[in-house]
Amino acid sequence: MTATDPPQTSAPEPPLATCPVGVIFCPFPSGIAALQEEIEQLNLQLGSDALTGVANYRSFMATLELEIERTRRNGRPTSLLMIDIDHFKKVNDIHGHEIGNQALVHVAKLISGQVRKLDVVCRYGGEEFAVVFPETDLYAAIPVAERIRLALAENSLQHSALQLKLTASLGLATYQPYSLSSVAELISQADHYLYEAKQSGRNRLCHTDVPLAKDISNEEKQALSHLFGRDAQAKD
Ligand code: GH3
Ligand code: MG
Ligand code: MG
Repeated sequence: MTATDPPQTSAPEPPLATCPVGVIFCPFPSGIAALQEEIEQLNLQLGSDALTGVANYRSFMATLELEIERTRRNGRPTSLLMIDIDHFKKVNDIHGHEIGNQALVHVAKLISGQVRKLDVVCRYGGEEFAVVFPETDLYAAIPVAERIRLALAENSLQHSALQLKLTASLGLATYQPYSLSSVAELISQADHYLYEAKQSGRNRLCHTDVPLAKDISNEEKQALSHLFGRDAQAKD
């Protein structure tokens, strides 16, 4: 620097059209915007599983509570799928924990690739995943669950020379608008069918019986009638 050079000052911050928090003549608009971005990222991390990036247990419970409340209000069912990788302990025992972790990431990606944007994929814990299907009845959820099962069975994890074939067992249950049961009961129902899938040979989907129109009781029709007006009033 020579004596004639002007003194170096840090360049003034380019003005933002508006301060992110609405302060007039805000001196740190970009600093505030960066902090807001950081808070958003932290909030996202709080709700997602650190290994797989899908929703974590805490976020799963919040989503399920919210969707069940929505079902009670708008009458559209919520379905819940529980997925448990088969014989996963052997993966760790044979190939090591690191490959086990990669397998969990692989499974989370495959599940996420089969569902719609509004469906919520969660890591329920360990090698168990769950999917919440908002506004989805059993008829619509069954083919998606079956697609997930096939995607897992048909897409091995590739790692160097290793080709790791994985399968999973799945349990599916649906919360109906006229149901008076709790979130815990819905989870335990899906869990029950998952257990049935394990018991009956693994790599399969078990679910609640698909109700036929004639099997819907008069009480259930009565409970639904307010949602659809006079025409839906229960008839014998
Ligand atoms: P099943 O078909 O009956 O479900 O058998 P399984 O071996 O999958 O079930 P089990 O409950 O016996 O074993 C689950 C295994 O999942 C044991 C545990 O070490 C492993 N596991 C749980 N969380 C993680 C994880 O974050 N990373 C890795 N690598 N393994 C995990
Ligand atoms: Mg398990
Ligand atoms: Mg398992």
